[in-house]
Amino acid sequence: MSDYVQSLMSEVKAKNPVQPEFHQAVQEVAESLVVVLDKHPEYKSAKVLERIIEPERVILFRVPWVDDQGEIQIHRGFRIEMNSAIGPYKGGLRFHPSVNLGILKFLAFEQVFKNSLTTLPMGGGKGGSDFDPKGKSDNEVMRFCQSFMTELFRHIGPNTDIPAGDIGVGGREIGFLFGQYKRIANEFTGVLTGKGINWGGSVIRPEATGYGAVYFAANMLETRGESLEGKTCLVSGSGNVAQFATEKLNELGAKVVTLSDSGGHIHDPEGIDADKLAWVKDLKNKRRGRIQEYAEQFSSATYSAAEPDSDHTALWTHKADCAFPCATENEIGGRDADNLLDGGIAVVCEGANMPSTPDAVERFIDKKILFGPGKAANAGGVAVSGLEMAQNSMRYSWTREEVDGRLKMIMKDIHAATVQAAERFGTPGNYVNGANIAGFLKVADAMLDQGVV
Ligand code: NAP
Repeated sequence: MSDYVQSLMSEVKAKNPVQPEFHQAVQEVAESLVVVLDKHPEYKSAKVLERIIEPERVILFRVPWVDDQGEIQIHRGFRIEMNSAIGPYKGGLRFHPSVNLGILKFLAFEQVFKNSLTTLPMGGGKGGSDFDPKGKSDNEVMRFCQSFMTELFRHIGPNTDIPAGDIGVGGREIGFLFGQYKRIANEFTGVLTGKGINWGGSVIRPEATGYGAVYFAANMLETRGESLEGKTCLVSGSGNVAQFATEKLNELGAKVVTLSDSGGHIHDPEGIDADKLAWVKDLKNKRRGRIQEYAEQFSSATYSAAEPDSDHTALWTHKADCAFPCATENEIGGRDADNLLDGGIAVVCEGANMPSTPDAVERFIDKKILFGPGKAANAGGVAVSGLEMAQNSMRYSWTREEVDGRLKMIMKDIHAATVQAAERFGTPGNYVNGANIAGFLKVADAMLDQGVV
């Protein structure tokens, strides 16, 4: 570690104690940027990175609501408005019991670079709550969302901060949140993305993160004269990103053999084809069931329960060509990376945010496999959110073909910008450095232009 990164990190850790995910995200970016800061001392003297690390604003609020038994429940709501140098704050809301300030700060920090990579004018933000929608009735979720928005509405707006979904926040939650915003603010405006199609949403928004990650993997493979056709793929998670990554992989002729949730994973060596995927979508999006039920429904599959105390995750022991982690942060550790590499993995493309630990990333880069970091590979979701904002501003909607065409083009541009930045700063083929550098430069230049704010 360079002296600069060492002293930066000791300051970050002292100022932000007990936020390990935030430290991890900052350290990775700082290490990538050492070479840029050496070549461009103007960024260093203007303390651009030091300023990006400090959120512009953090909002923390009480979210009280009444459950179906009449009992009062109290949760915490957060919104991190991280950086608005290139546009209004933009980033998802996560509802999950693990949510805390450090996790949302890591996500908001990553979002700044990701949004910059999309080429669209969006700053970075993230928010959410430690509320768990799992096991709650629709009415409970609605009451929670209404209480959450009753405070959040005063901090957001179509030109200020535009939240979207993330873990635990899908179409149902966005609907309840939008309904309450509209009621309190008395305006129908594009203040959230991921909206329903007949009330301001964009086609392809639900699909965008998963599809985009697969387009990114295809772009990476193209650099080696290969395609996804005939490739065996491991996908983790079974939510929004995992479902649509699986759908696009099927369309492009790959075979997906795993899916998971926090309870465990299923392995179906015959492949999760379109019909089986339709069943999974119904299970997860309507019946809100567990992935274990897949193995009860399809005899070709086996289910393995998660072993939280193990030093590895069984899903990553299956032999495959490509891996798409689409569940959550740090789901691939060093041992998992070894298992994947032993199984002959050639591509790891991150649908989730920071799913690989630093140990795992180091192994993938050492072995020179195609490793697409989440910041670049999963930027398709926020990119189409940006397109949803554009359509809302125009009061117009584009067709499926138009939006998908733009998504493909954006993913191609992100891939190209990442490859070029990695090459320009001396680490060809290193998509981690490429994404961090390309994302940083645009934000940093805007910050220099705008003075010390
Ligand atoms: P989602 O629809 O809520 O699905 C999340 C999936 O991951 C579920 O299968 C969930 O299982 C599993 N999961 C969540 N936390 C877990 C944990 N601690 N351990 C094991 N499994 C866990 O969320 P999503 O939108 O697909 O998001 C997945 C990832 O993609 C996240 O990292 C998110 O930040 C990232 N991402 C999402 C978008 C987007 O547009 N939605 C965009 C960019 C990046 P359970 O149901 O059992 O919890």
